[in-house]
Amino acid sequence: MQTRIEVGILGATGMVGQHFIRFLQGHPWFDLAWLGASDRSAGKTYGDAMTWHLGVVPETVAGMTVDDCKPGNAPRLLFSAMDASVASEIERAFAQAGHIVVSNSRNHRMESDVPLLVPEINPDHLKLVPGQQRARGWKGQIVTNPNCSTIVLTMALGPLKQFGITKIITTTLQAISGAGYPGVASMDIVGNVVPFIGNEEEKMQQETQKILGEFRGDHIEPLTAKVSAHCNRVAVVDGHTVTVSVEFSAKPTEADVLHAIQSFRGVPQHRQLPSAPPNPVIYMHEANRPQPRKDAERERGMAAFVGRLRACPVLDYKFVAMAHNTIRGAAGAAVLNAELMHSEGMLD
Ligand code: NAP
Repeated sequence: MQTRIEVGILGATGMVGQHFIRFLQGHPWFDLAWLGASDRSAGKTYGDAMTWHLGVVPETVAGMTVDDCKPGNAPRLLFSAMDASVASEIERAFAQAGHIVVSNSRNHRMESDVPLLVPEINPDHLKLVPGQQRARGWKGQIVTNPNCSTIVLTMALGPLKQFGITKIITTTLQAISGAGYPGVASMDIVGNVVPFIGNEEEKMQQETQKILGEFRGDHIEPLTAKVSAHCNRVAVVDGHTVTVSVEFSAKPTEADVLHAIQSFRGVPQHRQLPSAPPNPVIYMHEANRPQPRKDAERERGMAAFVGRLRACPVLDYKFVAMAHNTIRGAAGAAVLNAELMHSEGMLD
């Protein structure tokens, strides 16, 4: 029988922390044993420390006492949903103290020895970890997942990398839950579109090149394709949509592109990891799909949905993609990262 693994959450009281708690309920490998947050919450029961936003707080979790985010009592494997203003130092301190930090925060994503992982797309980027531990003198490690829009784009483009991607133009329609709670004021977003999300376009451009890049011993050689992102906040609760135009060097036919998307399976599917959707990129033939309200929650929020593949008069092809931003774009992504690491023997 599989030995169960105790896990903790850094930033457990926040919006993404709550998604981690919900996503980990009933997990076949991981037992939630520790919750960390700021000094404001430390010492309180979880139920008293936060306002729960996802239905009913699990009873077993509500009675747990929140700890402060200092190494000492936490289990070895930690998921991080720390506020970005404090994540750099706190995550580093835990990694230095021997913890495996599987982070959702942006802080370490672009460091050259830190994997920015999408398990279906670049599982080999985990090979950066031994070099990271050597260079930093850590027994622990930091592994990250991408920004919530980047993951939608890279899951859709991963199956197409074989055709030699040379240019990408993408426009996002991002849900309000991506801004945390309370997020964007209702007066700003209801009946409106906000055509600016701070640093989001830069993150999408750089993270996409790293994720679709090649592992080269001690670093990732970024994809050389040019990426241009336009990021917008729209009045949708959950589910980030991205529209994409893409150019390829190999000039595949539309049927080649469709086949690549539909037949795509990654390491998580082959290994049947617990949080892996059987089909990570689902193509929808209906002309008006995917839609966030109808599709984001399907497959436990872990699949990316693609539709409307057609010729693009400017680049080669264009399509739409959508995935759940706080599940596949945050908590679920990190849990799948940890499952991949476990399947690689990295949690032993
Ligand atoms: P949030 O709701 O503001 O939660 C932040 C968490 O960090 C809380 O648990 C908070 O604890 C803790 N914290 C704040 N200051 C701290 C300190 N000095 N020491 C220890 N803990 C501290 O934020 P969120 O929306 O969940 O986002 C968390 C992270 O995930 C951010 O880095 C964000 O960029 C990233 N992210 C968010 C989304 C999303 O969809 N929301 C998606 C992808 C990535 P207290 O409650 O005690 O203050």
